[in-house]
Amino acid sequence: MKKITFLLCLGIAGFSAMAQNTPQVFGRKIQSINPKTGIIRCVSSEYESFLQEKESKRATAQEFEQWLAPKAEAEKSKLLARKGIAGTNAVITIPVVIHVIHSGQSVGSGRNISDVRVNSQITVLNQDFRKMLDTPGYNTNPIGADVEIEFCLAKTDPNGNPTTGIDRVNLGNTTWNNSNVESTLKPQTIWDPTKYFNIWVCQFGGDLDGVLGYAQFPSSSGLQGLQGPYTPATDGVVIDWRAFGSSDYAAGQYFQDIDKGRTTTHETGHFLGLRHIWGDGGSQQFGIKDCSATDYCNDTPVAGWENYDCLDTYNSCPSSPGNDMTENYMDYTNDVCMNIFTLDQKARIMAVMQNSPRRNTLKTSTVCQPPLSNPSFELLQGIKLYPNPANDVLNIAVSDSSKTPDSYTIYNSLGQAIKQATTISEGNLKVDTSNYATGIYMIRFTKGNETKTLQFVKN
Ligand SMILES: [Zn+2]
Repeated sequence: MKKITFLLCLGIAGFSAMAQNTPQVFGRKIQSINPKTGIIRCVSSEYESFLQEKESKRATAQEFEQWLAPKAEAEKSKLLARKGIAGTNAVITIPVVIHVIHSGQSVGSGRNISDVRVNSQITVLNQDFRKMLDTPGYNTNPIGADVEIEFCLAKTDPNGNPTTGIDRVNLGNTTWNNSNVESTLKPQTIWDPTKYFNIWVCQFGGDLDGVLGYAQFPSSSGLQGLQGPYTPATDGVVIDWRAFGSSDYAAGQYFQDIDKGRTTTHETGHFLGLRHIWGDGGSQQFGIKDCSATDYCNDTPVAGWENYDCLDTYNSCPSSPGNDMTENYMDYTNDVCMNIFTLDQKARIMAVMQNSPRRNTLKTSTVCQPPLSNPSFELLQGIKLYPNPANDVLNIAVSDSSKTPDSYTIYNSLGQAIKQATTISEGNLKVDTSNYATGIYMIRFTKGNETKTLQFVKN
C-alpha cells in the first residue's frame, strides 16, 4: 500500500516526493536515518559543516585534525606510561547545567522533565565515561577505556547564587527547529561556556523533527586565530527530551530503543572531540560504503558506514581487521547495544580537554561547589538588563534610584574588559552595543563593597 502511494506521488509530483526522501537540516542533506524507526540519531557533522560556512575563522576538519594529532599522540604516550601504575588517576570533573526548555507544563510533565530524569542522565554519563563496574557502561574489552571524566550538576549559577544545576525556562509553546535553536534558544539561556558544559533539553520540530540531538565540536586555537564571534553563544549539546535520561531510573516517555541515555553520551563524545567511528565518509542509507574515511582512532576497527543495531556482527570493511564496533558510543546503534569508548578515543578527549578553548577551562571550573557565602545583593538587587539579547542598545534598569550602582565594567567572552563606567549617570545606563561583535558578554556592577555580575548576549 505504501509503495503504491509512493509511486503515485512520484508520478504526480515527482520533485516533492524526492525532496521528502532526502530531508535536510542546517541546509544540508541528512546523512543517516534509521531505516526501521525513522529516527535520526545525530546531526553533529551536518551542524559542523554549517558552522564552518557561517564562521570563516573556524578550522576545517583537516586543520583541526592537524592541530590535534600531535597532542592526542602525546596524551596516548602519557596514558601508556602510567598504565598499570596505581594511584595516578587524574579524574576531571566537568560542571554541567541542564537547561530544560518547556512551554508551561508542570515539572515532571511532558518536556518539562523531572529532576529525577535529569539526574538519571548524569548517572549514565558517569557510568559510561568511567566504565563503571556493574553498570551498563562497563565492558571487558581490553581496549575499553575508563575515560576518567565525571560530570556534576552545577551548584553555583553565573550570578554566584545557589542552583541545582537544572535551569527550567519557559520559552513558549513552540517546537524547536535549527534556526530557532541557534538564534533564540541557545543565546537566550546559555551559561558562561568557559565554566559550564551547557546541555539543552527541548522538543525538536521542523527540520529537527525526528532528530535525537547534536553537539558543537570543540574549536582549535592557534594559527587560525581565536574562535570566531559566533560560536561561544551556541556551545554545548542539544537533546530531544524523549532521548534524555534513562528508563532504568526514571519512568516516562522515550523514543523506541532510545531510553538508556546514550544519546547524551554520544553527543558529549562529539563535544569532547570524537567523530563517528565510520568517519562520516559512507552512509548505509545512501548505499555508499567508504572504508578510507577515518575517525582518527587506530583502535576502532575500520567501518564503511553506520550501523543501527547489534543483532548480528557486521564487517563493512572486510579487507581491514575487525568487525564494526557496533557497541561503540560513537556508532548509531540502539542504546542497549552501546558500552565502549576506546583508549584512542580517550587520548583524543584528553588532548581536547587540555588544549581546546572552552574545554580546557571546564576542568578548573569551581561551579560544582556551592557559593562560598550566601551573597547578599541588597544594594544591587533588582538590576535588570534589556533587551537581552541586545542589538544596538543595552539598557540597565534599576528598581529605584537608591539601587543605582556606582560603576560597571563590561567583559567579552575572553574575559577582556571592553568598557568601563566609573560613575553612573542616566546617560550611561544605556550602553551603545552597535559595534559589539555577536556573542556573550558579562557586565560587572559595583556598589559600595558589593559586586554583581550579569550576562547579556549581543545578536
Ligand atoms: Zn553523532
